[in-house]
Amino acid sequence: AAETTKKYIIGTDVTFAPFEFQDKKGDFVGIDMDLLKAIGKDQGFEVEIKPLGFNAAVQALETDQVDGVIAGMSITDERKQKFDFSDPYFESGVVMAVADTNDTIKGYDDLKGKTVAVKTGTQGAEFAQSIKDKYGFKVTTFDDSSNMYEDVKAGNSDAAFEDYPVMAYAITQNVPLKLVTDKEKGGQYGFAVNKGKNQELLKMFNDGLTNLKNNGEYEKIQNRYLGEAD
Ligand code: GLN
Repeated sequence: AAETTKKYIIGTDVTFAPFEFQDKKGDFVGIDMDLLKAIGKDQGFEVEIKPLGFNAAVQALETDQVDGVIAGMSITDERKQKFDFSDPYFESGVVMAVADTNDTIKGYDDLKGKTVAVKTGTQGAEFAQSIKDKYGFKVTTFDDSSNMYEDVKAGNSDAAFEDYPVMAYAITQNVPLKLVTDKEKGGQYGFAVNKGKNQELLKMFNDGLTNLKNNGEYEKIQNRYLGEAD
């Protein structure tokens, strides 16, 4: 009898291009999506993707409503208390963006009395909280990245804190923002399972990632979204 392939439920962000986003047909694509599918193929498992939003996906993982999360999720010491992470698969880091027409905000020093948009539950949000008193700005939160960019574009927020590869990609897709700071350190992406749970899935992710790095498939996936130059 044919063995049925094990299927895992995976939570992700609603939109975090180039890692997860919907293509014209409404399918979820991006580096995370293609990587996870390719790893599943390599290791013999299937996935069902649940685009819940970043914070909701992390909460769903904590309460075992999903088996894993892949969402450009940064490996942090705090999160390691609650989750087990795969080997890192992408180097990131938080940057600050402002409207491309803004010539007055050039760094954190120019944020006094201003409003910074962040996404709930993210490293960018945490970073904003950690420096807001020092620089004297207010923080306003959003559930997803596109609403956050819209708010800066509309002039309600003066700046946004976002992961470098995501903000840089959005700018190439004509989101009218510009980067004004260098990447903050820290922010390697990992695939997460709940602590002590789904260890076989975590092992398959790591084994598959190693295989895809060795056979060139991982590079191909990255190039599909970032181009050869990056
Ligand atoms: N890398 C960031 C974090 O883990 C943001 C992830 C996201 O917005 N999908 O907090």
